[in-house]
Amino acid sequence: MSQKDLEHQLNESRALREQLEQTYRAEMQTLTQFISRLGNALRGVDGELDHRLSRMQSALGRADKLERVMPIMDDVSVLLQQQGTRVQRQLQDTQTRLLAASKQLQQLQGLPTDMRGELRDLIAQIEGPAFSVLHYLPYLNQMLELYQRGLDVRVSRSDTTGILDQLKENGEQRYASLKEELINLLSVIDFSGNAATGLQSVRQQLIGGLSEEQFVMTCVQVVRLIVQGINEERQTAQLFLQHLNEVLGTVSNSVSRTISTSQKANKAQQSLDEKLQTGIQALSESTNSACTLKELTNQIKTHLEVINATIKQKQEIQSKSHKALTIELKSAQQRILELEEKAEVYKEKLSEQKFKSLQDSLTRLPNRAAFEERLELEYKRWQRYDTPLAMAIADIDNFKSINDTYGHIAGDKTLQVIANMLKKSLRGTDFVARYGGEEFVIIFPQSELSALAEPLEKARKRIQSIPFKFKNNDISITISIGAAGFHGDDTISSVFERADAALYSAKKSGRNRVVIESR
Ligand code: GH3
Ligand code: MG
Ligand code: MG
Repeated sequence: MSQKDLEHQLNESRALREQLEQTYRAEMQTLTQFISRLGNALRGVDGELDHRLSRMQSALGRADKLERVMPIMDDVSVLLQQQGTRVQRQLQDTQTRLLAASKQLQQLQGLPTDMRGELRDLIAQIEGPAFSVLHYLPYLNQMLELYQRGLDVRVSRSDTTGILDQLKENGEQRYASLKEELINLLSVIDFSGNAATGLQSVRQQLIGGLSEEQFVMTCVQVVRLIVQGINEERQTAQLFLQHLNEVLGTVSNSVSRTISTSQKANKAQQSLDEKLQTGIQALSESTNSACTLKELTNQIKTHLEVINATIKQKQEIQSKSHKALTIELKSAQQRILELEEKAEVYKEKLSEQKFKSLQDSLTRLPNRAAFEERLELEYKRWQRYDTPLAMAIADIDNFKSINDTYGHIAGDKTLQVIANMLKKSLRGTDFVARYGGEEFVIIFPQSELSALAEPLEKARKRIQSIPFKFKNNDISITISIGAAGFHGDDTISSVFERADAALYSAKKSGRNRVVIESR
């Protein structure tokens, strides 16, 4: 090859290399720019990553040798990998939290139907797949907006009562019904002795009003008192059994004493009988052997004296043993009588507890027996503690005509519905029972007579507005009520009679009304 050719070839390769280098630089620049922009996009996610990215960018900017940039790139790559798993975790976290928040919103009562629909759609979207936390941002905004609207609805619904007040109110309602239940339970526990007094004062406290904390303490106190009451009852039963045992002991002693007394008496009698027999024998022998009348008379006299004395002795012994026997028998009899009385009380207690049915099968309300038992209890409490007590009698108006027009089955159904409404309209602490037929009785423990008009009127109106429909006729059924309160030396029957008289005057003055006795 000539010199010229060589130069030409050399120039061509130089040009080719320059062209290649140019292309390489251009590509390198594009790559650097791209990496730099990618770095910018990643900024703000993590401090350490930011720092490394800056270093890498400036190294790339200085167009340093690639070997110097490589280690920095390795570091960045590790950080990016860690960042990847962190993002994945955050993604899951965000999804879980968003779901929890939306479900909570769903549980809020009183949300309008359209909001509920939106919320359902939102939940479906959140539950779908997501590739970045940013994916959730619009949902988060949507949820915040729903929360805001939910709050607005609640606030406007209850005027000044916000959600917090509502929650508080719910809690208070639950607490109030618990309190009511406890008062009711305490009313039906019929203990005597210390436990009864304790329970009564707990009941007063409950009615007076307690903080929730005090209420919990009270519950504990009640349990303690009930346990004490049960123990006392058990002790009373034990005392009775001990007494029974003692009495049986003395009775058996006195019986054996009586037997031994009469056995002794028997022996004495036997010897006297023998003595008598010998006396009589001697008498008959002397009649045979006596030679003179005088002798005979004397002998007879002596023998008769002996016989007489023996008979007297025999009589004395007989009457003595008879007396002792009578005394012993009388005292045994007395003890047995006492025992019988005690056993009777226990028997009654047991049979009352076991066999008395206290529920009316038609209305499921307490029946007349239950009412009488409860009124007895409240009456005793009223006497003992002087807390106010009142009662009322309610009677369905013209009920006979319902039966006559629509039949007994319709009548029964009506009774059930009215009984239910009566119970529902009064407080849980008021005792409602079916007295019989279409008559109901209500006991208002711890209530002044003057406080009865309002609840009774409410019950009357609610019953009047029950929409009965018989044979396609819309019927309204009403009740009349009479009420009376316990005062002074009232008895159960005196108050019952006054309530009945008040009911009678309600009927007479046109029915469908409440009459409270005037004092
Ligand atoms: P007043 O307004 O004066 O109370 O009139 P009344 O018709 O309600 O009173 P009355 O005492 O004359 O009639 C009561 C009726 O209640 C008679 C009886 O047929 C009916 N009755 C009582 N117990 C039951 C029951 O268990 N089921 C049904 N279906 N009816 C009953
Ligand atoms: Mg009647
Ligand atoms: Mg009636």
